[in-house]
Amino acid sequence: MAKSARVHSVCECQASLGAELDEQQRVLRGWARDRRRRTRLSAPAHSIGSEHPRFDVAWFCPYCVRNTLRSFDGSALAYRETEGDEAVAVAAG
Ligand SMILES: [Zn+2]
Repeated sequence: MAKSARVHSVCECQASLGAELDEQQRVLRGWARDRRRRTRLSAPAHSIGSEHPRFDVAWFCPYCVRNTLRSFDGSALAYRETEGDEAVAVAAG
């Protein structure tokens, strides 16, 4: 069953950045959240050097249109089984 992990950071504009990663540390989807305005937008994101234990995730923040780069340690990621329709389809098949 597919597993994914989430990473979080904060942009320079104070928006919360998040991304969901697969087990190869590649970004499945990214998002940004403005905590003051309570809005959430999808944010294009991708991982750099995902084959290494220590890798970077780059977000394109939709609020301030900056590219934000953050480093993560793959050994610190907490993987969980993917939720939602995909998991249901696998279970039913
Ligand atoms: Zn931003």
